[in-house]
Amino acid sequence: MRRKELIQRARELSKPFRVEKGEAFRLKHVDPGDTLEFSAEDKPRAKEALALGVELLADFQDLLYAQDRWALLLIFQAMDAAGKDGTIKHVMSGVNPQGCQVSSFKAPSSVDLDHDFLWRSNQALPERGRIGIFNRSYYEETLVVRVHPELLERQSLPSQLKGKDIWQHRFQDIRHYERYLARNGIAPLKFFLHVSKKEQKKRFLERLETPEKNWKFSAADIRERAHWDDYMEAYEDTIRHTATPEAPWYVVPADNKWFTRIVVAAAIIDALDQLDLAYPVVSEEARQRLQDAHQALLAEN
Ligand code: ATP
Ligand code: MG
Repeated sequence: MRRKELIQRARELSKPFRVEKGEAFRLKHVDPGDTLEFSAEDKPRAKEALALGVELLADFQDLLYAQDRWALLLIFQAMDAAGKDGTIKHVMSGVNPQGCQVSSFKAPSSVDLDHDFLWRSNQALPERGRIGIFNRSYYEETLVVRVHPELLERQSLPSQLKGKDIWQHRFQDIRHYERYLARNGIAPLKFFLHVSKKEQKKRFLERLETPEKNWKFSAADIRERAHWDDYMEAYEDTIRHTATPEAPWYVVPADNKWFTRIVVAAAIIDALDQLDLAYPVVSEEARQRLQDAHQALLAEN
């Protein structure tokens, strides 16, 4: 397939899962098992498509790096075992590691808690020309912290700022922050890998029953699973309030890993294509210097 067709295909593949106007969004409209027109038999074809996507992504990243103007911020959120790590690993497998910065956000440290909630993310933002990946992010502040009010209690916010409006305030702050980033040439793209409760159970069992996968399991994962419905509500509300044209969410079906990966790759390709990237044009003067250097090298004996 030619480059142009591939880009077109990437747009078609990712568009059904793109949310850029939050109000109309309902989580129940996205089926975690959805694979569009692909069936399980198409898995090899999907893998081929991913390989093409990974190659195209690498080309785009080279442009991004050379132009050194834009940065891309990819945010990954999901329930445990939805496949964040594997998706990041596969989708970014062709990309030059020098042009990529991955940050994983765990429970905040006491130093983090001594600052505002965007502080630690702000320090991890990608430089121009780079792709920044957030494996979890400040969105945990309207997800896990909302599901577990005791976490908010532990934050050292002044008590009059912890009122019932706090979630609306955080949504508003996140919207403004992301608009600020976009206006500064750091384009945010947010992914919610939407796995079903049934598929999560299957993957947890696999982790428990396979010695090589035991390390991936933690008792906390089962505790969070018990709050499934609260999490789904928190995700829906978060996406409804923070999906904007400049910082869209992609709600990606995650019961089939091969499908999740092609949709994520497609969305990133589409976003990079929108940036109108180009290699820097060499000035006449610089071209002359290149020619001089060329001559000098050829003249060496
Ligand atoms: P992951 O679960 O992302 O695959 P992991 O298992 O290696 O990674 P954990 O030690 O489970 O890492 O850390 C992630 C945990 O940190 C999640 O349960 C998440 O909810 C929590 N977390 C992240 N950010 C925050 C935050 N701002 N406030 C509270 N908890 C947070
Ligand atoms: Mg974990």
